[in-house]
Amino acid sequence: MSIPDAVLGRLKDAVGAKGFSTDPNEIAPHLEEWRGKYHGHSALLLKPASTAEVSAILRICYESGTAVVTQGGNTGLVGGQIPLKGEVLLSTQRLNKLRGLDQGGMTMTVEAGVTLAEVQRAAEDKQLLFPLSLASEGSCTIGGNIATNAGGTHVLRYGMTRALVLGLEAVLADGTVLPMLRALHKDNSGYDLKQMFIGSEGTLGVITAATLRLFPRPDVAVTAFAAVPSPAAAVKLLGAMQARTGGMLSAFELMPRIALEFVTRHVEGTRDPLAAPSPWYVLMEATGGKGANVAAGFEDGLAKAIEDGTASDAVVASSAAQAASLWKLRESISEGQKREGASIKHDISVPVAAIPDFLAKAVPAALAVVPGARAVSFGHLGDGNIHFNFNSAQAGDDPAFLAQWEEVQQTVHDIVKEFGGSISAEHGIGAMKVAQLPRYKSHEELEAMRALKRAFDPKNILNPGKLIPPVLRL
Ligand code: FAD
Ligand code: ZN
Repeated sequence: MSIPDAVLGRLKDAVGAKGFSTDPNEIAPHLEEWRGKYHGHSALLLKPASTAEVSAILRICYESGTAVVTQGGNTGLVGGQIPLKGEVLLSTQRLNKLRGLDQGGMTMTVEAGVTLAEVQRAAEDKQLLFPLSLASEGSCTIGGNIATNAGGTHVLRYGMTRALVLGLEAVLADGTVLPMLRALHKDNSGYDLKQMFIGSEGTLGVITAATLRLFPRPDVAVTAFAAVPSPAAAVKLLGAMQARTGGMLSAFELMPRIALEFVTRHVEGTRDPLAAPSPWYVLMEATGGKGANVAAGFEDGLAKAIEDGTASDAVVASSAAQAASLWKLRESISEGQKREGASIKHDISVPVAAIPDFLAKAVPAALAVVPGARAVSFGHLGDGNIHFNFNSAQAGDDPAFLAQWEEVQQTVHDIVKEFGGSISAEHGIGAMKVAQLPRYKSHEELEAMRALKRAFDPKNILNPGKLIPPVLRL
């Protein structure tokens, strides 16, 4: 796509000298994503500093039919933030103000380009909690989190990003600003339009600010790493621990032995915290107030699980440092996998109770396509979300293995569909899965999505080609 000079000139004028760059060195890092899978190109990086500037940009793009890709922290894992066809790149990096924090009402209003870590810190400074937590939190932005409806490790207790947003300000494709920054928990005055933008991956509008829901900061956190004989035992343990803690579990993460081995082999400062090896492990956390005595229920639940064989062993962290070292085991799995060489990855969800049967069917089915590969199925068991990954048989690069990605993926996703699951639990569709969506989502749902897209973005200038599959005309 080449953009006429006159349009480029108008866009530059709309944001002023500080608000754009045509310097290839400045633009370059915005064109590559974290996994190195997608490479984009763009002649113009726009850096608006206000909602009015975003509106002015989009008005010009709309009039001239110029396509725009919005980018936050560029940590997305499905290529959605990369201008693959030479679109104008709109970065939210200068939309970085904290507009207000209401300590008593427990809400915060921030602009889209504020990083998740900054949002968490601002809440903490007022003894409050913003519970969204991702390994990318130092770089990803709240706008990106909302646009992808990000998940992470605390969804079990606090829900996806969708549940954490009370109000939103968004700019439509034609430059219209939708002022929906309300700090209301209840508002049934019509369609909840803000929800349309949450998880829309930059295809319906540009999010410029949000009013977020904050929570009391828990005084007590109990963390344990438990060995379990099977995924079925892990699901049973989840139910038992929820019951024993009165629903105070804030994380329940599954990992197989091989993931622990990758981590302890490659990541400095990590070690197996238990005496004997186990095929599976669970990292769990419960939090509460001082008076709630969360620890008692938690430890009692674990002791009972060991007694009845649901778990074979467990360590409960006795200090914040020990809890951090247990979390490090879970958070280093992606790095451990990377250091072991090539991997094929999926981000799927099925109903929680179906996880054991799903794994029992999908692991051998995938291994029939890539014999000898190493299954590394881990993730948010409490949400039914498994990062269903495979490493090549040997450490190191393996082009022949990677060439099987699509066949493995289709095999896995077909089984996900059989179990009533989703081919994207938390990372989104972006460029990566758009071609597959028609196979896994009903025609009726896709048509409704296309109708929404036409209503919000009739000229298809916002992130074209991402998320919404084109209609195939035979
Ligand atoms: P970007 O990558 O810049 O953009 C992502 C998408 O959102 C694109 O489609 C883009 O066009 C759109 N977008 C961005 N900002 C806006 C805006 N203001 N308005 C409209 N559209 C916008 N994700 C999870 O859900 N859970 C995890 O646990 C998790 N862990 C991760 C760990 C690592 C190490 C990495 C690298 C990524 C992880 N991710 C995870 C994925 C990623 O961090 C999230 O998708 C995050 O929400 C993206 O935020 P971002 O600001 O980087 O957005
Ligand atoms: Zn995840």
